[in-house]
Amino acid sequence: MHDACLTLNDLRSGDWGGYPVYLAVLGNPIRHSLSPQMHNAALRAMGKGDPRFREWRYQRFEISEEDLEEALETLLRKGFLGVNLTIPHKVRAVSLVDHIDATAEQLGAVNTLQRAPDGWIGFNTDGYGIEKAIRQELGVDLAGTTVIQLGAGGAARAVAVKCLQAGCRELWIGNRDPSRLNELLRLLEMEWGGRCPIHGFDLTQPPPTLPSTGLLINVTSLGLKPEDPSPIALERFSDALCVYDSTYGNPHNRLLADARDRGMRCADGLSMLVWQGVRALEIWSGAEVPADVMRRAAEEALHTRLSRG
Ligand code: NDP
Repeated sequence: MHDACLTLNDLRSGDWGGYPVYLAVLGNPIRHSLSPQMHNAALRAMGKGDPRFREWRYQRFEISEEDLEEALETLLRKGFLGVNLTIPHKVRAVSLVDHIDATAEQLGAVNTLQRAPDGWIGFNTDGYGIEKAIRQELGVDLAGTTVIQLGAGGAARAVAVKCLQAGCRELWIGNRDPSRLNELLRLLEMEWGGRCPIHGFDLTQPPPTLPSTGLLINVTSLGLKPEDPSPIALERFSDALCVYDSTYGNPHNRLLADARDRGMRCADGLSMLVWQGVRALEIWSGAEVPADVMRRAAEEALHTRLSRG
């Protein structure tokens, strides 16, 4: 049952008393989420040392935007302890939670909810996820680093705020749609202007002033599909550039293949997914979470998904 893709009707009619503690991820689409495999593997491992966690289960629910409010109320009523939110719910959920932590409020997006006596508390663990992933996979600390970020969508906001919070040297953000770019720049300037140089650029025509080295982070959706072009030509950069591509599931996409050809340090976004999940499970459990177990479970689930086509 815990690997199935459930619906709002299942949530309404289900008797969720089978295990004492339930967790859930809500999204649309959600069928391909790796989170249930990742979290349930971690809970099995945690259960070996602490019997409490043998009675925890993580489920996925396909929930449309219109049904989010009812789904969150129902999850609370049915006793769920925690919830992850993915596309398209992260921004809308901000207005549906009862409390919000400071980072999530700054981002205007939540991806993790925890039950409180009087409702849901909202957190955002995406920024934590990318910072840990970049340090672990590339050996790069955001503090003091020049960051060139590609993309200005929902995830890009969390990435930009984390780079600024961590004390990056300067932040360059490129996007195709100028209005989305300007909206993000306006938000960032309000909070961080004067403390760190923030520059916007047209991703379709990168300027000659763009730094040639530092850390390039792709937060566009280009790279999700094998046939996608690279979001930026790497010829203009020094081979010392490090490349983090937040997409995952296609580790040989154009950007990563070009980076490897040039001998650049690079990694795909699976590690970000794992670390945002580790942080969420730490929030819910208050316990140490085995990141290596979550990583292996995510890799296995991805392998199974890819081999099924
Ligand atoms: P959004 O839909 O909010 O943003 C999409 C971004 O991609 C926008 O900047 C958009 O630019 C850009 N884009 C889309 N198509 C193109 C194109 N053809 N050419 C140039 N730019 C393009 O998505 P999210 O911000 O939620 O997600 C972005 C990426 O981050 C996804 O690939 C997602 O998989 C990844 N992600 C990874 C996570 C992880 O844990 N590893 C967590 C969250 C997200 P424009 O404004 O011009 O349309």
